[in-house]
Amino acid sequence: MQGAPDRESPQASATPAMTPFLETQIQKVIDEIYHKYKGVDDGTVATYIPELGKANPKHFGICLATVEGQVFTAGDWEQEFTIQSMSKPFAFQMALEKHGPEETLKHVGLEPSGEAFNSIELDPKTGRPFNPMVNAGAIAVASLIKQSPVQASIAAFVDKLSGAAGRRLRLDYSVLASETETGNRNRAIGYLLLNAGIIDEQVQLSLDQYFAQCSVLVNCRDLALMAATMANIGNNPVTGQSVFDFQFLKYVMAVMFSCGLYDFAGNWAVEVGLPAKSGVSGGIFGVVNRQLGIGVYSPKLDAQGNSVRGILACRELASHFGLHTFDFSNVGSSFMQWLL
Ligand code: GLU
Repeated sequence: MQGAPDRESPQASATPAMTPFLETQIQKVIDEIYHKYKGVDDGTVATYIPELGKANPKHFGICLATVEGQVFTAGDWEQEFTIQSMSKPFAFQMALEKHGPEETLKHVGLEPSGEAFNSIELDPKTGRPFNPMVNAGAIAVASLIKQSPVQASIAAFVDKLSGAAGRRLRLDYSVLASETETGNRNRAIGYLLLNAGIIDEQVQLSLDQYFAQCSVLVNCRDLALMAATMANIGNNPVTGQSVFDFQFLKYVMAVMFSCGLYDFAGNWAVEVGLPAKSGVSGGIFGVVNRQLGIGVYSPKLDAQGNSVRGILACRELASHFGLHTFDFSNVGSSFMQWLL
């Protein structure tokens, strides 16, 4: 079953229409956050995939998209970058849709690893990768959704993301070539997974699928709409397209909540309190369930590999609008209450 029927859609009757005044207020907050942090110059652009090193460190974009389909943007929101690890939740969703949880979870766990994203390690207790947000888990997931020829499953992945973004997305072939050329650590992980019986012998195909998934070009608006599609029980709030089977989104968002921000995930859960995923290109997207999606981008990363300005912007958006999942004021529709 794809998405949810209209009559179950919470916004169909419950959500108040947004007035032009409120739209202006929200835009003002986003503009202020952009101006407050655009001068922050800390961090370094990732270069271990050489092509990523070409990113302009000044770029900084913010986008917020509601489940009603309103979109608010600031700064370099149109700038494209590769999705990198932010592809992992969507691949996990696709594996769950294709195989169901029982089969999928034979190949990947749900536990935070406490290790770096690229660690070459499996859970000693279960023999599986810890979770789908670390590379080992993501390569296991890529193996579950790959097809032969791999072009077909790459196209299916790009289609899925395009549905969530509401526009046709494409790959960055220079980044793909750069990662394919230098990705020896991921190749090592692939063969470790084969040795452990987690993936089949088509290791190269699984890696091709994984590298291509990481190379999809997106901008902040795409990320915010993909997140808003998750928030909107699987339906793109602008196009109305049913994109994700909503019964699996709880798996995806729960893992994003506990494992989405590398070694910063625990702090993020306390400080921002949203299911989210970051990527080494400098993007972060976050989901406020049933309310909205956030997409931010700035390529300079902190020591944990998260966008410096991105974290600052998300933290401020969450505190300003009361978005934290466990914030006392967040009763499931705090953002909409703020608007009233
Ligand atoms: N393609 C990157 C890698 O596998 C993704 C890393 C990331 O964004 O965390 O190294």
